[in-house]
Amino acid sequence: MEDPAYNRLRRLLCVVIASIAVSSGCVSDSIERPVAPVAPIPVAPTKEVAPLAAIVENTQVSTAEIAQPSKPLPIPPKPLPLPPTGEPTVAIRIEELAPSARITIDSADGRLQLSLVGAPPSESPWIATAPIEVRVQSVGWHVSARGSATRVFAAGELEIRPVKGSTTALSCGKKKWPGELRVVRTPSGIDLVIDVPMESYLPGVIAKELYGSWSEATFRAQAVAARSYAVVEAARWEGRRHYDMVAGQQSQAWVGATDNPKAVAAVRDTRGQVLVHDGVVVPAYYSSACGGRPASALGVVTDNPYHDIAPLSAGGGASRSSCCQSTAVASWKATIPLATIQSRLQSWGRGIGRDDLAALQLPTTIMVAEKNAAGRATAIRMRGRTGAAVEIDAEDFRRAINAAGEPKTSLRSGDFSVRISAKNAEFTGRGFGHGVGLCQHGAQEMGRAGSSYKQILARYYPDSMIVKAWK
Ligand SMILES: [Zn+2]
Repeated sequence: MEDPAYNRLRRLLCVVIASIAVSSGCVSDSIERPVAPVAPIPVAPTKEVAPLAAIVENTQVSTAEIAQPSKPLPIPPKPLPLPPTGEPTVAIRIEELAPSARITIDSADGRLQLSLVGAPPSESPWIATAPIEVRVQSVGWHVSARGSATRVFAAGELEIRPVKGSTTALSCGKKKWPGELRVVRTPSGIDLVIDVPMESYLPGVIAKELYGSWSEATFRAQAVAARSYAVVEAARWEGRRHYDMVAGQQSQAWVGATDNPKAVAAVRDTRGQVLVHDGVVVPAYYSSACGGRPASALGVVTDNPYHDIAPLSAGGGASRSSCCQSTAVASWKATIPLATIQSRLQSWGRGIGRDDLAALQLPTTIMVAEKNAAGRATAIRMRGRTGAAVEIDAEDFRRAINAAGEPKTSLRSGDFSVRISAKNAEFTGRGFGHGVGLCQHGAQEMGRAGSSYKQILARYYPDSMIVKAWK
């Protein structure tokens, strides 16, 4: 039987994918530049459409960068994984490029090693002089190296790595990437994916997720959370798509290789440590500021019933806790014209196939219909002059409003109250982000006051324990 929620999410996914901005950090030529027609080539099989996990809100983004986050995944829910017994490698998609893109890859030691994924051992890799330029050709990949050497690889995934024995990270665009680069043909273009050992991946995550002045305890807590989240994502996507996470707000921010000493030390000092609940790894979601009223994961960042566990539930009473109240993002206001709310929700409704939203009247009432145990809004009810009331999950309401990417008429969090005037809705809210799991600003308040990273993790992921999964 077809699950209507599944279809709804598939449609949502299409909207999300269509809205993803393509950056061109690795591209030497403008992707708009006309090039010789590219004949269709076989693409790497993708077993499923590749949806994006909406998870993390970067503390360092301004409201101008509020993107339409994706919720939940239209894939069968997977149980949470056991802690790995060795350091896993994760696959991070760093860019999506047009089929006409020319990709420049360099290495400081002057050489790169190229081979097709799955090539027989009898086919020795090509050692090319860096930098190289890779582009799609009718039969596969065309690679030109420094000097005049060129090589054509048949269709498939092409792997580019530092030569054996090299400790130099390869570079693509302005960044250095600590791992092996894979170029993968997709139905819409080219994906650049870095396969990177977990412990080499994490410093570039927390260097971007936290402010450099924040405490060591906050960095360590963030390292364990980010590692746990990544372990679950890698298990969830195994065999389902050609990468585990994206480098960005939809998964975790990632700057690639970094020598940020605080980030490097926090990862080293917590090496192999993951959060575990009932023997399985916790998908340790985190966000910028919970506003003192945390959200539960289920229905906000995931629909996977396996995520309905104590470490990801909003506990507490209805009164607001003191968490993150001293931060600059503690409170916010937004004034949004009712007509804007109507048009954005209609558009969202069309995108996900919800007829009641698509036909939404100009709202005359907007109210919080449901709250969770912490008092945070979980459902919003709207009514027009005539007709039935329309309800939407609070976090979806925020996504629908923010989809336009207009900072002045965006909602920083789903924790708000709302008052309607003649033409506008006045929102008064607390916090920044989805509010699930670790609150980064709250963690920093604890860290600054002398709490350890274990105390921070115990607060935000109650009933979980820290397990050292690998050495
Ligand atoms: Zn908080």
